[in-house]
Amino acid sequence: MTPSLTAFDVAAIERNAEILLNRIVDAGGDLSRVRLMAVTKAFDAGAPNAAVAAGMLLLGESYVQEFVAKLDHVTEAALEAEWHFIGRLQRNKVRRLPECVSVIQSVDNEALAAEIARRRPGQTVFVQANLGDEPQKGGCPMDGISTLVAKCRDLGLQVEGVMGVAEQAEPDVVLRQYQELASVADELELAERSMGMTADLESAVAAGSTMVRIGTALFGSRPAKA
Ligand SMILES: *Cc1c(COP(=O)(O)O)cnc(C)c1O
Repeated sequence: MTPSLTAFDVAAIERNAEILLNRIVDAGGDLSRVRLMAVTKAFDAGAPNAAVAAGMLLLGESYVQEFVAKLDHVTEAALEAEWHFIGRLQRNKVRRLPECVSVIQSVDNEALAAEIARRRPGQTVFVQANLGDEPQKGGCPMDGISTLVAKCRDLGLQVEGVMGVAEQAEPDVVLRQYQELASVADELELAERSMGMTADLESAVAAGSTMVRIGTALFGSRPAKA
């Protein structure tokens, strides 16, 4: 049975995307270098369907089971969008990750990298850093990033970038955390820096983000997780 999907207002999402692109430019970002990802986690398939109808090409999901269930109800056009996985990924969920995922952004330990390499040889990944050493957040400690990147490369994974979620803190602290991540990416010659969300995209862009991951400012607040 087809569930009734949330009816998002496509024109409103277009307007929200426009506002976000202006925020990126105002923060000094170059729109040929900074991409806008629509984070559709916690919403039903109405969100990716509307985002793609509004012209967005890049989508992010965070929970494997929810993602798999959602895909049954996305439009053909949404299925053809570029999907990234940005959530915490347990090793035993790797095999259930949908085929359409082109980048796994949340690789934060060697055991996970090994399982990804086994199930999806040559997979494109980003390595996720824990920018504020916050125990409740995913991510590899900053001083472990270069070892983890080397390990991923040994495993045949295609490492193209880094991802991080800054602490909820003063803008100067957030800026410094994103700058530190960008400098690690520079050292490791990783082109993609997935940094910035609704609340802190300005700091992330100022630090050289190439991809901001936005949920709330596109779709409104997320429903409570079932
Ligand atoms: C939920 C989430 C986002 C989007 O957050 P908003 O504040 O709604 O823009 C971005 N990145 C990650 C890793 C997330 O889990």
